[in-house]
Amino acid sequence: MSKPPALQATRKWVQQVEVAVSECTRPDGSLDTEVLADWILNAMEQYGARGAEPMFTMDGDGPRCSHCGAMWSLCGHHHTSEVLDDGEEADCA
Ligand SMILES: [Zn+2]
Repeated sequence: MSKPPALQATRKWVQQVEVAVSECTRPDGSLDTEVLADWILNAMEQYGARGAEPMFTMDGDGPRCSHCGAMWSLCGHHHTSEVLDDGEEADCA
């Protein structure tokens, strides 16, 4: 079993990072790493939450969010999920 290959950023992602870095740059030219770190965390969260969907455990417990494990729709990931269609999201909102 091999490890997954290293990823390479798309041009679009590089541009998004460039914008974020410029927005996190203070007037004196220094980088506000705390604000940039928050942006990175939120970008990762949004990316991961795109695949969120309601799931049941093997014990029948659920529905739980496949991304964070909270009760489905209480965590809010049904708003970010790209797995569900609009009708399913409306049922949970
Ligand atoms: Zn969730």
